[in-house]
Amino acid sequence: MKKYKQTIVANWKLKLNIDEAVSLANELKEKLTKEKLIDKKVVLCPSFLTIREVAKVLKNTNIALGAQDAFSEDQNIATSDLKTLGCEYIIVGHSDRRAMGDTDKLVNKKARAVLANNMIPIICVGETLEEYNSGKTKEVLARQVSQALDGFDNKYFILAYEPVWSISTSGSGKVITPKEAIKQIQTILENIPDILDNFDIAYGGSVNPDTVADFSKDFAGSLVGGASLKAQTFFDLIQNS
Ligand code: PEP
Repeated sequence: MKKYKQTIVANWKLKLNIDEAVSLANELKEKLTKEKLIDKKVVLCPSFLTIREVAKVLKNTNIALGAQDAFSEDQNIATSDLKTLGCEYIIVGHSDRRAMGDTDKLVNKKARAVLANNMIPIICVGETLEEYNSGKTKEVLARQVSQALDGFDNKYFILAYEPVWSISTSGSGKVITPKEAIKQIQTILENIPDILDNFDIAYGGSVNPDTVADFSKDFAGSLVGGASLKAQTFFDLIQNS
C-alpha cells in the first residue's frame, strides 16, 4: 500500500554542523512550502547532535524529521526519545552501520523498536562490491530482507535498496544502472512474507537531479546522501522525482 507516490529521504550523515544543518533546513522549508508537494513526502535525517535544532525548524511544516539510526534497547540513544523529539522515520541497517557490525538480527531488532514506538523504519539492504562481483546479489538480498522483516506485523515500513558499491562514498567509482536496480525490486518482493503488504521500496546510491527520474519511475522513493546537502540540488531532485 503506497503512502506517498515518492518518499525522498535526505541522509545528512555527519556532514553538517548545527548551524549548517539549521540553515539548510530553513532553506528547504522556504522552498518546499512554496511548492505543493503533491503525493511526495520529504524526510530530513540530520545527525543525532543536530536533530533537536532541526526539529524546531521543521515543526508544523510539511517536511518530516528522521534519524540515521535507532537502538533496539533504550540504551545510548533511546528510540522513544527520537519520537519525542519529533522523528517520524528512522533509517536502520545503513551500510555504514552494517560495516560497523550491525548484523541482520540487530537490524531486525532496531526496526521492530522503531515500529513499537510508532515511527516508520527505512530499512537499508544491498550487496557490497565483492558480493556483486561474485554474483551474490540475490542471495544477499534474500537474507537481508527476510531477516530484517522477521516477526513484523503489517505496520508500514520502507525498504531501501542501496547497492553498497553505488553509494557515492563507497569509493568504487561505479553506480548501478536504473535497469539493473529495478530488476532487484522483484528479488526483494520475493522475500517479503505474503502477510506483509503495507510497504514501499525505495532506491539509494548516488542519485542526483539528473538521474532520479530513471529510478523513481519504478521505485517509490529515494535515499539521498551527497545530493541532499545543497538546498537547490535537493530541491531539483525532489521536483524531478
Ligand atoms: C547513502 O549514503 O545512503 C547514499 C545514498 O549516499 P549518496 O546519495 O551520496 O550515494
